[in-house]
Amino acid sequence: MKKDDCIFCKIISGEIPSSKIYEDDDVLAFLDISQVTQGHALVVCKEHYDSFLTTPKKVMHKVMDVAQRIGQADMIMLGARGVNILTNIGKNAGQSVFHFHVHVIPRYAGDDLIIEMKENRDLEKLNLPAIAEEIKKGL
Ligand code: 5GP
Ligand code: ZN
Repeated sequence: MKKDDCIFCKIISGEIPSSKIYEDDDVLAFLDISQVTQGHALVVCKEHYDSFLTTPKKVMHKVMDVAQRIGQADMIMLGARGVNILTNIGKNAGQSVFHFHVHVIPRYAGDDLIIEMKENRDLEKLNLPAIAEEIKKGL
């Protein structure tokens, strides 16, 4: 179902223009307006779901399939040397548009984008087996 106040629903319906890369009955891919690197794309499902975590598996798989294909095309056609695939879930993780989308970010030799995963400074204080148990209980 289309959500009236959702910018991606408006892109999907054509109310807001976008540079489209791919479209089928369930999925749309278009260039992100911010272009953190050249070719930065977004893959979205046409149905409105808030995030990766609330999207039905079948739909999520279709989105990931298109993300993989675009990543492959980036390597071949744009001369990318790598690709970051990422999806933000929740404000605290940097999500700003609450319609499930996957970023496909081509990476180039010498690009200045920093996506950093720093080691936890309190690593020795963490009980990794206990944390693993907690997550396992939720599966
Ligand atoms: P998020 O922060 O939710 O993971 O990503 C949302 C992305 O949507 C941002 O990278 C932002 O640049 C992009 N975006 C927001 N509004 C528009 C728009 O109107 N058109 C396009 N093409 N991208 C948009
Ligand atoms: Zn939407």
